[in-house]
Amino acid sequence: MTKVVCPGSFDPVTNGHLDIIERASRLFDEVVVAVLVNESKKGLFTIDERLELLDRATSDLPNVSTASFNGLLVDFCTDNGISAIVKGLRAVTDFDYELQMAQMNGSLTEVDTLFIPTTPEYSFLASSLVKEVAKHGGDVSRLVPDFVLTDLKAKYA
Ligand code: ADP
Repeated sequence: MTKVVCPGSFDPVTNGHLDIIERASRLFDEVVVAVLVNESKKGLFTIDERLELLDRATSDLPNVSTASFNGLLVDFCTDNGISAIVKGLRAVTDFDYELQMAQMNGSLTEVDTLFIPTTPEYSFLASSLVKEVAKHGGDVSRLVPDFVLTDLKAKYA
């Protein structure tokens, strides 16, 4: 049985994340979507809020679960019997950083990293941009699930 992790901040989850999570869920037996707890970086959504939105967004995918972690991702993998990290690649700008991370994680443990190329319609999409546009009243309705849109509007009301 192959269990993988899709790690990230998910502040909040976007359709770009969901594209990668759905595709990973078709390829692997079990997918854990893991929210990184970063004490030094306060997000717009709390960790519990992010997990709630992710649970809702993945409720139709029975082999997907959610969790949060702090510390090293490879330790989370070892503790949870996870054999690979799955990451989305948007553009060449993601590549340098992701390759470095993948090689560092690979040097720390046996955990491998697999990349899934983004669907072109989401290649410009990042949570930070969604927040910036939503904050100024721009239309992000095609970029996030409905309930995320509602919560974003509430945050900036
Ligand atoms: P963001 O850049 O949106 O804040 P995260 O830190 O939450 O993203 O990223 C978690 C993972 O999701 C990373 O592997 C990232 O490359 C991937 N990802 C984020 N947005 C997209 C997208 N639009 N298409 C494909 N993968 C994405």
